[in-house]
Parts: sequence; C-alpha cells; structure tokens
Amino acid sequence: MINQDVLVIGAGAAGSTAAFHLAKAGHKVTLLEKNSSNLIKPCGGGMAAAVQKWFPFDLMPIVDEVIKQVDFSWCLTDPVIAELPGSSPFWIVQREKLDLFITSQAINAGAKLLKPFKVTQLERNGQFWRVTSEDGHQLQAKAVVIADGSKSPWPKALGLGPAKEHYAFTTSVRLEGRGNMKKGISRFEFGLVKHGFAWAFPLNDGVNVGIGSFIGQHAINSNSILEKILPNLGFSPNAGKRQDALLRIWNGHSPLNGNGIVLVGDAASLCDPFLAEGLRPALMSGYEAALSLNNWLIGESENLNDYTNSIQFKWGNSMAWGKKIAQVFYRFPQVGYQIGIKRPTAPKRIAEILSGEIGYGDIAKRVIKRLFLQRA
Ligand SMILES: Cc1cc2nc3c(=O)[nH]c(=O)nc-3n(C[C@H](O)[C@H](O)[C@H](O)COP(=O)(O)OP(=O)(O)OC[C@H]3O[C@@H](n4cnc5c(N)ncnc54)[C@H](O)[C@@H]3O)c2cc1C
Repeated sequence: MINQDVLVIGAGAAGSTAAFHLAKAGHKVTLLEKNSSNLIKPCGGGMAAAVQKWFPFDLMPIVDEVIKQVDFSWCLTDPVIAELPGSSPFWIVQREKLDLFITSQAINAGAKLLKPFKVTQLERNGQFWRVTSEDGHQLQAKAVVIADGSKSPWPKALGLGPAKEHYAFTTSVRLEGRGNMKKGISRFEFGLVKHGFAWAFPLNDGVNVGIGSFIGQHAINSNSILEKILPNLGFSPNAGKRQDALLRIWNGHSPLNGNGIVLVGDAASLCDPFLAEGLRPALMSGYEAALSLNNWLIGESENLNDYTNSIQFKWGNSMAWGKKIAQVFYRFPQVGYQIGIKRPTAPKRIAEILSGEIGYGDIAKRVIKRLFLQRA
C-alpha cells in the first residue's frame, strides 16, 4: 500500500485549493476524484474577487464576466439597481473550469490526481488514515482532507460538522446565448421563490440561472418559477437542462477537525445560509486547512484545532448572523425587500457583502431590528 502525507477526497474548489497549497509546501499529496469527465456543475458561479488573495497565480484566465452592477426585482417588477464600487469586486466563473484550473495548478505544484477514484471507505489504521475506492484500491496517509461536497457521508460518520445538517433546495440551468442580459450585470429576483431567491449570472457565451430555497425543508416548484423568469431574460420558458441539487449550508459552529483529518467547503457545511455563497468559503477553507496541516505535518503544532478556530473566526461568526437574517428575511420577504433591499443605503451594503468587504455581523443587528419593527 502506498503511503502519502495527505489524501484529499474530492477535486472541487475546496479540495483542489488544499492540494495546491500542501503540494507547494513540499508534501506528498494525492487528490482523489470520483468523476473522470468534466461535467457541468450546478452553480451560479458568482464569486468575490477577494478570493484572489488565497492564490499566488492569477485567477483572471477563468473569469467569464466581471460584474459592475446588480439588479434586484420583486416578482420581476419594483427594480433596485446596485452599482458595485471599486475595481472588479464580483466575478462570474464556470465552476467546472475553476475546479479544473486549480487542480492543474495543484498538479504543477507536485500533487497527484487519481480519477476516477470514488472513495467508499475511510478508516483509521494505526498512525494512518486508510481510504478504499469503489473498485477496492487502497491508499494510506498521515492526513486526510474531506472535500467531497454536500453529499459527504464522512462528517456524520466521524462526529464532525454540525450536529444537524441543513440543506437548501436548488435548481440550476445553464443557458446558451445571453438572451437580453447585458454585459457586467447580474440579477437577483426575490418574490417568486418561497423562502429564497432566483439569480441570473452572465457567462462568456451563456447565462447561469438558478433558484434556491433556504428555510423550511420543502422542495421547490422550479419549473413554474423558471417559466416566468426565463422569458423575462429573453429565453423560451422551457429553455436549458435543469439540474436539482441539495446544498449543505451553514448550521452552527462545529468541530471541523479530528486527529489528522479536516473538513473543507460544502463537506464542512460552510455555504452561506442567506445567499448560497459557497465558493469563497470553499477556497478559504482549502487554504486555511493547508496552513494548519502543514504546521502539524512539520511538527510545529500538536493538533489541527487552529483550523476549526480560524474558520469560526474568519467565516462562521458572519454566517451565524447570516442565518439569523435568512430566517427573518425569508419568512417576511416582502417586508425584507422593502426595507432590506430598497433602502437608499442598501445597494452599497449589498455590494460590500458580495465583494467580501464586510460580513453579516456588520449589518445584522440593524437589519433584524428593522424587519421586526416593521412586522410589529
Ligand atoms: C445551484 C447552485 C448554485 C450555486 N451558486 C453559487 C454561487 O453563485 N456562488 C457561490 O459562491 N457558490 C454557489 N454555490 C455553492 C458552491 O457551488 C459550492 O459551495 C462549492 O462548489 C463547494 O465546493 P466544494 O469543493 O466544497 O464541493 P464540490 O464543488 O461539490 O466538490 C466536491 C468534489 O468531490 C467529488 N466527490 C464527491 N464524492 C466523492 C467521493 N466519494 N470520492 C471522490 N470524490 C468525490 C465530486 O465529484 C466533486 O468534484 C451554488 C451551489 C448550487 C448547488
């Protein structure tokens, strides 16, 4: 059996980032990916440009669109326009291109990629972690990064992550052509989706349209919503292939590490419970996990607890407020739209959230107070 320093399960945004940084630090890293082909991955692809700080290479080659303006609507009327200040604060990417790009950087840095390699067993074997693939191949390593996304069975099996997992219901459509979407503008629609919102993000030669519902565990009637939204964007009501996905979202502070093992990205339930922003925390957690694992592997720290602590401090504290905002906003969305989105200062705040300049904690108390006062 081949021994590695680190095995990374899943070559998505989080896993490929961890693999890149660990390989760059000189560790023997193998990235295990179950899919052999590069399928279209369900994702809006909206990402704060601030993620660039976690990479020494330029991400611009895989950015399809730089967003300068965000248009909001309530049932496709009552528009609000938010100009995004500063230089290119919000990008749109195709998730499969992003994953492939970072994976190729990890390989250039010395990581090995095995695919298809679907991990079906994970267990402790003395000083090592041992993984087994669907077809019986086994590998061992001192450490494992769990980066296999929203369906990961390992957090529960290992007693890590939130005690109760929470999911958003999503449907996404990748459309060919731009319809009537203008360059540099993305759209958010509240009002048509129960407990959530719809988005339309422009790509080079297409549009990502999607729907997410965040509270209450009810599947959404996405076809009837898309039949209203798509013509408004200049497409036929039944255009594009639909993909449904359950997205694991943040649901409380929780341990994200064990002995030589860490959870990252969706497997760690890091996705924003209000706006479904999961790429930034996936990339951040991949980076932070690599830092922590490097220190542990070279004997500078005794355990990986600093990883859990840094994610709580840098991301979880903001998500705790994001969850509270979601619970109030999506229960009273019309009030939320009027006083949360239509306030004169709201576009600036929204822009700052989308670009990662501020967290939910910076606005939450005021927003929740206003929503409750309005309901009283
Ligand atoms: C419809 C939709 C829209 C979204 N829109 C946005 C958005 O606009 N902006 C944003 O920031 N976030 C968005 N997100 C969230 C974002 O896509 C995710 O949070 C992000 O992709 C998480 O990355 P990850 O690397 O943790 O997981 P994933 O990208 O899911 O990667 C997991 C990888 O692990 C592999 N894998 C799974 N099981 C195994 C196994 N057993 N063995 C080996 N490999 C395995 C998978 O094939 C995959 O490659 C959206 C999500 C959805 C569903």
